[in-house]
Amino acid sequence: MPLKKLVAGNWKMHGLSSDLAEVREIAKESRDYPTVDVALCVPAILIERAARAAPDFAIGGQDVHEAEKGAHTGCISAQMLLDAGASLTIVGHSERRDAQRENDRDVKAKAETALASGLNVILCVGENLDVREQGGAVQTVVGQVDASIPGECPEQAQLAIAYEPIWAIGTGKVPANREIAEMHSAIRKRLVDRYGSAGESVRILYGGSVKPSNANEIFSIADVDGALVGGASLKAADFIPIVAAAATSTP
Ligand code: PEP
Repeated sequence: MPLKKLVAGNWKMHGLSSDLAEVREIAKESRDYPTVDVALCVPAILIERAARAAPDFAIGGQDVHEAEKGAHTGCISAQMLLDAGASLTIVGHSERRDAQRENDRDVKAKAETALASGLNVILCVGENLDVREQGGAVQTVVGQVDASIPGECPEQAQLAIAYEPIWAIGTGKVPANREIAEMHSAIRKRLVDRYGSAGESVRILYGGSVKPSNANEIFSIADVDGALVGGASLKAADFIPIVAAAATSTP
């Protein structure tokens, strides 16, 4: 039985009050696709306004601190995200792994804290171009999964893994279908090794230059249970066709 697809937008460092109309529009048009879970992960400072602008629509953060509270200047806790109206958060995005030097241990701690607090989590993994070209992509990504997923299997649908090859993010490049299929199948196998049959219900999203023009093809690959979308999630006109593709395509 295929999993319900999740299409989540990552607004990164984009989004002002003037963009709330777009959040509203995305939330409104998403209602036409009840067979797909849709979410927008917006800058922390926009979460509360986005949640008010689009009640009953999933708004998320893009990072969370592993500690409950304390002396962590500039950081955001899971309770703060929930308090602002978020229901999910991204952890371990490659831009944070790179610029903020986050490692698998940090990502695992963040995911565990977020899940224990009641947030859903999209946990990102992905290889860089050198690793891909040297033939080590599967081994590297499965290693990241192993080291960064929570120790205990979370409740159903709370955790999603986003496979995001770094070289495909924001570049317009997308792996070949067989490369996505190979990676998602390897991730699925490792989830089942770790969590038993519960690992079958963890959604595996693909992320990296997903657009209306390639979404159908990507969603028809086995074990692709949705997408994490950056640039094409900023406007309803680009994002909703991706949601529509998720609603109609079958592996
Ligand atoms: C991302 O950064 O998570 C992402 C997938 O970006 P884009 O869709 O712009 O490649």
